[in-house]
Amino acid sequence: MSSPIVRRKTRQVQIGNVWVGSDHPVMVQSMTNTDTADAEATARQVFELWRAGSEAVRITVNSAEAAAQVANIKIKLENWGCKVPLVGDFHFNGDRLLRDYPDCAEALAKYRINPGNVGKGAKRDEKFAYMIEKAIEYKKPVRIGVNWGSLDQAIAARMMDENSKRAQPLTAEAVMREALIVSALESADQAIAWGLSPDQILLSCKVSHVQDLIAVYRDLGARCDYPLHLGLTEAGMGSKGIVASSAALAVLMQEGIGDTIRISLTPEPNGDRTKEVVVAQELLQTMGLRSFTPLVTACPGCGRTTSTVFQELAQDIQSFLREQMPVWRAQYPGVEEMKVAVMGCVVNGPGESKLADIGISLPGTGEVPVCPVYVDGEKDVTLKGDNVAQEFQAIVENYVVTRYGENGSKRRADAPKIIPLAQI
Ligand code: SF4
Repeated sequence: MSSPIVRRKTRQVQIGNVWVGSDHPVMVQSMTNTDTADAEATARQVFELWRAGSEAVRITVNSAEAAAQVANIKIKLENWGCKVPLVGDFHFNGDRLLRDYPDCAEALAKYRINPGNVGKGAKRDEKFAYMIEKAIEYKKPVRIGVNWGSLDQAIAARMMDENSKRAQPLTAEAVMREALIVSALESADQAIAWGLSPDQILLSCKVSHVQDLIAVYRDLGARCDYPLHLGLTEAGMGSKGIVASSAALAVLMQEGIGDTIRISLTPEPNGDRTKEVVVAQELLQTMGLRSFTPLVTACPGCGRTTSTVFQELAQDIQSFLREQMPVWRAQYPGVEEMKVAVMGCVVNGPGESKLADIGISLPGTGEVPVCPVYVDGEKDVTLKGDNVAQEFQAIVENYVVTRYGENGSKRRADAPKIIPLAQI
């Protein structure tokens, strides 16, 4: 029997309408790649990320033009029924932007500050202190987000110097890992000394190599009780980015480390930004940490099934389920745990279909061209002909309504109204 994952005990931090910390489910975050000064494009992308399941969305606040649009973006989203917390990503000029655009400071649910990108020397402390002052004034939590690529050079130099005086110096990589952790912890200490509550702090130390990330977060997790934001920075494109992020984050989450995650995938040119949300959700769901969308069990196919019919049906039904979830999630609580099976032939088809809530077994090569459908472990109907996909989809939809809908016990009367994506 598998042992349950025991989360590392942390403080609980409120970000807008969601809580992050060990008493709450691991939260999924994402980030836009639009120019924040373009309020319409940014609001649309935030909406799409939220609709895909992102529970907080970070936007770049890098210029006066961007800061001037943040409150406007929030209003647009609220008009579309979306109240996702917006996180402002500040570097270099965050102090000035928070000072000059109070509506931006108010509209954001959290500030992300990279202590390595605030300034140098005394100026660094002055600017960082000012941003913390604004977080206190507007009662906003702060993620102190250290990054390998923009590590505070003063800390790196100090630690390299200290290391050279050791009888047995550490490797340069070990010193850099320690410098990341020290930068995050010392910045948190400073923020507290300036008056920020420890319950308004989250930390992250992002690096781009899997083993470094695991080592850094294990150490960081043992040395503080702040909630930790996990993510492999510059994870890369496609399968490389997905595999690297999943490998690193899975190891840490299995050890109970990590309270919010982001998968930093590089999208294909003009690619779908929501992929990073889907990957984050699937990672949490396959690890048994959370449920977001009904899972489709599909066999890989083999020589017994030479057509692509079952692959197309598996893909169509997965897309259909994911597309319905923004509405179903609100109307039919529990539907995210539904299990659907789409199987390629009689070898494992009926068995796997019976184990699912609803399953279909398609005919393999040379088998009678019929498709038995199983509901709650019992054979329900046999489909045949050209419209099997549509008929199976209708059966699934009907199952959701009957089991989780008005006549079921789980329907929520206060389900919020969400404007469909096509109508915004
Ligand atoms: S269920 Fe049938 S088609 Fe699918 S992998 Fe197994 S033997 Fe092959």
